[in-house]
Amino acid sequence: MTRTIVKSDCGHLYATIWIPLISLKAVRMGNRRFQHCPVCRPWAWTEQADVSQLTAEEVAQAQQREDLPIP
Ligand SMILES: [Zn+2]
Repeated sequence: MTRTIVKSDCGHLYATIWIPLISLKAVRMGNRRFQHCPVCRPWAWTEQADVSQLTAEEVAQAQQREDLPIP
């Protein structure tokens, strides 16, 4: 499955499996969601990163930070 690069409120970039909202009744959070940051551990608001605004280095680094299934 393709992973999407996201940016956490804590400032970390990482790749995650991003499943678009299916239900129109879902709380309108836009493209933000609350999830665990694989880099620094805390839960944080996360949103899809605009890859065009990132450097190639930032993208490569984020792709190496794929989140893992919850242990
Ligand atoms: Zn973090």
